[in-house]
Amino acid sequence: MDASDSATPSTQTAEPTHRPSWRPCPQCGAKRVYRSHRRSFAERILSLAGMKIRRCHACGLRYTRLGGSVLLMADVEGLLRRLALVALMIGGLGLILAAVIFYGAWRASLGEAGLLIVVR
Ligand SMILES: [Zn+2]
Repeated sequence: MDASDSATPSTQTAEPTHRPSWRPCPQCGAKRVYRSHRRSFAERILSLAGMKIRRCHACGLRYTRLGGSVLLMADVEGLLRRLALVALMIGGLGLILAAVIFYGAWRASLGEAGLLIVVR
């Protein structure tokens, strides 16, 4: 037995790819996950909130991470779209309410003026 130079303590396969600090894709497990460009207003808002949008180059999944959970961009955008719709509806209702109040006040002032004219 001649086991002189058989010590291979580390098999470091220095991959020339990107930093391995980022976790793999939550859907397919591939490591080809990169930061993704912001595509929509919703993604811009998430980016401003400090969330980094990632995209898997293997399966095309776009996602961000919030704490320990994964948020898929499709879900996030659907949610934000629904929230925007609700905000639009509330804004529309407020506009209608303001118009009704303004119209009522306008009618009341006309009524007072008319009443004054009738009295005189
Ligand atoms: Zn993937």
